[in-house]
Amino acid sequence: MTGRIVVLGSVNMDLVVRCQRLPSPGETVRGSDLRRWPGGKGANQAVAAARMGAAVDFIGCVGDDELGREAMAVLRSEGVGLAHLQVMPGVSTGVAMIAVDEHGENTIVLSQGANGRVSAGHARAAAGLIQGAALLVCQLEVPLEAIEEAVGIARAAGVPVLLNPAPASALPARLLQAVDYLVPNETEAATLAPSTGGHEATVRALQKLGPRHVLMTLGADGVMLSGDEIAVVLAPAVRAIDTTGAGDTFVGALAAGLVEGASLLQAVKTAVQAAAISVTREGAMSAMPRREELT
Ligand code: ADP
Repeated sequence: MTGRIVVLGSVNMDLVVRCQRLPSPGETVRGSDLRRWPGGKGANQAVAAARMGAAVDFIGCVGDDELGREAMAVLRSEGVGLAHLQVMPGVSTGVAMIAVDEHGENTIVLSQGANGRVSAGHARAAAGLIQGAALLVCQLEVPLEAIEEAVGIARAAGVPVLLNPAPASALPARLLQAVDYLVPNETEAATLAPSTGGHEATVRALQKLGPRHVLMTLGADGVMLSGDEIAVVLAPAVRAIDTTGAGDTFVGALAAGLVEGASLLQAVKTAVQAAAISVTREGAMSAMPRREELT
């Protein structure tokens, strides 16, 4: 059965200027013309899932400004449902100000903007949407109270929850116990369950925190899945040129596979393929593959 995915999360505009070298404090350097594209883990994951053919609705906030309108236009053009993406008057859209030097080194200043205004009230206003979903997907770029409320609504309605605990942060035990699919990268996993025993020990420690399944992404090494026996799905060897958004592509494609009714292992295999394609191209959203590109 194919159902809808609801993503609760962040929308940013990434503002990028390239420069020969990054400025020191107090210094001004000349940079390239400004380039901008939408990002934010929530928006990225919604687009990744939509490109895999899933029906996706979004819960979040943008500011009442040009950047917000631009981000909304992109999400709309990807087919993401925006009835619960609220435009907040008097607030700026979330922005990542990124400077990249000639070696690809970067500095980023993140302005949370409207993402910081996503509240438990927004989750409650979208309760009907969440209750009718096949999967709720969250990350940690919006306030925890909104995530906890949405997860509570999903749980009460028997809707499975996928949590990508990014950026890395400690989390309440109750939230982790309510999660069906916990999808951290290595840094996020180490934050939630510090362990010195290697990946398997980390995955087992995460499992003890209560999520039904743990899927730890390992970059070029693929994904480790919990279960009676720990399994690893290897990533195909590719020539990676830009890994920005690899995790978001993985999460979105995984979500799409799960709501299509694929087994967890099959959904992971498809998502690993999608993420591998994304690292061979520049950017985050711009690098995400469409379903037809997968073998
Ligand atoms: P994040 O982007 O959140 O840091 P990872 O680096 O673990 O997360 O990457 C997420 C997934 O993207 C990996 O599990 C893997 O499937 C895929 N991936 C990342 N880097 C590569 C790579 N160099 N080659 C192939 N696949 C990759």
